[in-house]
Amino acid sequence: MSENCGCYPKCQKCGTGDLVPLSDFSNNAVSIRYKAWACTNKECRFFIVLRGGDVYYGQATAESAR
Ligand SMILES: [Zn+2]
Repeated sequence: MSENCGCYPKCQKCGTGDLVPLSDFSNNAVSIRYKAWACTNKECRFFIVLRGGDVYYGQATAESAR
């Protein structure tokens, strides 16, 4: 359990970036149960979003508008 100093987990996609948690953003002081992880490798741009029990994977491309 001491593989990597309690840092963020490695991105499984590119293997070089780290997955960092994004803080939940709240519009209108509404607290949204929203968690997202994004790869720090900007050439990878992989992200994971946990929302309502569903997991969304993707890359930060034009596909994210939905
Ligand atoms: Zn990555």
